[in-house]
Amino acid sequence: GSEIVFTDVVKQYPGQTEPAVDHLSLGIDAGEFVTFVGPSGCGKTTSLKMINRLIEPTSGTITIDGQDTRELDADTLRRRIGYVIQGGGLFPHMTVAGNIAVVPNLLKWDKKRIRRRTDELLELVGLDPAVYRDRYPRELSGGQQQRVGVARGLAADPPVMLMDEPFGAVDPITRSRLQDELLDVQSKLHKTIVCVTHDIDEAIKLGDRICVMADHGRIAQYDTASEILANP
Ligand code: ADP
Ligand code: ADP
Repeated sequence: GSEIVFTDVVKQYPGQTEPAVDHLSLGIDAGEFVTFVGPSGCGKTTSLKMINRLIEPTSGTITIDGQDTRELDADTLRRRIGYVIQGGGLFPHMTVAGNIAVVPNLLKWDKKRIRRRTDELLELVGLDPAVYRDRYPRELSGGQQQRVGVARGLAADPPVMLMDEPFGAVDPITRSRLQDELLDVQSKLHKTIVCVTHDIDEAIKLGDRICVMADHGRIAQYDTASEILANP
């Protein structure tokens, strides 16, 4: 994993009176699983997307292993940061293998390496490659689509994984199983994971540390689950 540090980060969207994120400073250790939790509109997704520069901060800096993310080009950001959204966000016209290969293709990996990696990732997320490789997203259940989304985020073996409400679109039983599987994957891979959720139970189950946010991306509490439960 990689260390991520926010220093005095502000995001002011044009035309909004109030900032979405107001002077956020936060450190995430290498290999740590941090969850951002808080009510709708408090700035969780904006904070997350500033890490891989899907959203540009208005001011302040974000560093990965000490390097300002502004100095990293698009390919370096894709290699270093995986990204998983609710429901998997799969491209419907691409097969499972095609979806997982999006970033490797952008990085111009050769075909054999992509095939090997795709099959390895399908195994990792519990889908038999021989059965699922050539299917289209519509031929998968919601939970299976989400697994493919996680595989796609992991494709280039990034040290950092960003997840935005990853299991928000699946039923509670599947969600619980996917959470367990994600923790299992994390125990093997030791990524730095930043995961946004509005569900405090999910935040506590997944996070080594939980960042409880109030409005404008302000931190109300940032601590381990046991500390949060002891001092709510
Ligand atoms: P959360 O993920 O916690 O629900 P967001 O980061 O999506 O919060 O949004 C934070 C605030 O910024 C909200 O008030 C939202 O309406 C506003 N916002 C988000 N995206 C945009 C945008 N593209 N343009 C203007 N305002 C936005
Ligand atoms: P949202 O609707 O949540 O705002 P985005 O517009 O951020 O979603 O992303 C749209 C799609 O593009 C998603 O399927 C996402 O997985 C993919 N995507 C966007 N940026 C990246 C990236 N840097 N690396 C990999 N996939 C990306």
